[in-house]
Amino acid sequence: MKHHLFVPDFLRRAVKYYPDKTAVVDGHVRLTYRELGKRINQLSNMLIDLGIRKGDRVAYLAPNTLQMFEGMFGVNQIGAVTVPLNIRLNPADYVYIINHSGARVLMVDAELVPLILPIKEKLKQVDHFIVLPAPGQKESEGWISYEPLLAQYSSGTPAAIEVDEMDLATLLYTSGTTGLPKGVMHSHRSLYFNALNGIIHVQASERDVLLHTLPLFHVNGWGTPFALTAVGGTHIMLRKINPSLIFDLIEQEKVSLACMAPIVVTMLLLDPKAKTARIEHHLRVVVAGAAPPPDYVQKVEELLHWEFIQGYGATETAPLVLITQIKSYQDPDIQNLRQIKTKAGMSMMNMCIRVVDEAGKDVRPDGKQIGELIVRGNNIMEGYWRQPEETKKVIKNGWYYTGDMATIDEEGYVDIVDRKKDIIISGGENISSIEVEGVISSHPSIREAAVIAVPHDKWGEVPHAICVLKDGKKLTENELLTFCRKHLPSFKTPKSCSFVKTLPRTGSGKIMKFELRKPFWSGKEKKVN
Ligand code: AMP
Repeated sequence: MKHHLFVPDFLRRAVKYYPDKTAVVDGHVRLTYRELGKRINQLSNMLIDLGIRKGDRVAYLAPNTLQMFEGMFGVNQIGAVTVPLNIRLNPADYVYIINHSGARVLMVDAELVPLILPIKEKLKQVDHFIVLPAPGQKESEGWISYEPLLAQYSSGTPAAIEVDEMDLATLLYTSGTTGLPKGVMHSHRSLYFNALNGIIHVQASERDVLLHTLPLFHVNGWGTPFALTAVGGTHIMLRKINPSLIFDLIEQEKVSLACMAPIVVTMLLLDPKAKTARIEHHLRVVVAGAAPPPDYVQKVEELLHWEFIQGYGATETAPLVLITQIKSYQDPDIQNLRQIKTKAGMSMMNMCIRVVDEAGKDVRPDGKQIGELIVRGNNIMEGYWRQPEETKKVIKNGWYYTGDMATIDEEGYVDIVDRKKDIIISGGENISSIEVEGVISSHPSIREAAVIAVPHDKWGEVPHAICVLKDGKKLTENELLTFCRKHLPSFKTPKSCSFVKTLPRTGSGKIMKFELRKPFWSGKEKKVN
């Protein structure tokens, strides 16, 4: 028998078996699965009444709120497609993405309405602009207000639709580091498998309380809304990254699971509450989205006393691909275990991975030879929405080419050494910017660093470090370069460094190295492998 995989079935199960369990906490609002299920039905019935049908797109511009969360089920339940929008884009990007996706409904958090007002007239295909009032906020004029509208609809289950697991569930526009943003298409099947991967590999259960620190617009919060709902866990919403509030929520709500970008971990480690918070329960933190500096494992375990798990994925892979997994027969020495966790890990259950050289041959599993990570599996995208040529560039012979350079060791653990475009090729030697950043970040005065390739007459390109100092710390270029020379071979040592107050980041927290490179390369072409 083939029963189609359908993401809203996760919610149905939770409502059936855990009706009185707390499902979502958003500030002062606490909803059980029964209450959440009703609101989600109301949303589905409302969308049907607004003329939304299977395949139609519904865009969301919102931080992590109850309304954003319920959209992921309410839209999908009627076969419509969610288009979560990054909340840190510029107006031209919103015009492009909303028009390109063909969204017919645009849901916007009240605080973000000013981002849309100047471009509203250009969004010709949007029939309904709906403002999502956060608790206690006033409605914006000229928009339909979500809560009063929702209240008009029945909380009964909407009419059943014909389901095919390959139906599109979500369109996720990538940050567009080069060229126009691309809409990554994921089916119900893809999101379903991604959720199963998450459940299996972090052993998520009904007892888990998950704090949503990753934006839900970024690969649907790494699929955690689906995974945690599937097992009947509790979701804690977080509108903004506020370290002090994060510590409070972890303590008060007994948060047991969180997925964080390394920059969020940095902010937590530097917050005074890192030393004073009284968190006595066990917490697993999945650090993913960018390479964490190597000393993070120790810092997270010793300072915060949380279990550190590294994950790796991309929007195109829904995103889960790799995860730290310790084997029972490995040397239990703490340093050895920490060393393993500095790598992105082994492939998840529904994934096949290879690390290949330019000729497409597998690299030696020696943890040294670098190649491109390519992946195949059930949670890889269907392609880029209305951009078949772009799709062909990355899906070749049934494999998705990640653009990430990696090594693989004899145990099968993959270590991501760089983005293909960020790797520095100096005098023919490959330099991992991630490795150099790891060394620089271990300096006690450094908060974070980005290492980029800059042009050099003799070596073609050489590493240059752009650093952010910790509050109140002082450091000269010379002192930092001397420190680097002690810890790195000379060809990897940055030839220069500069200090800045902040590093430019994408909405998902990634450093925009292409922006940092621009002033150095204007008029020249950075060599790309
Ligand atoms: P995005 O599509 O915005 O989620 O970005 C995906 C990219 O994030 C990947 O292709 C990697 O370059 C990077 N990334 C994600 N997780 C890790 C990790 N654990 N280590 C290094 N890079 C990572």
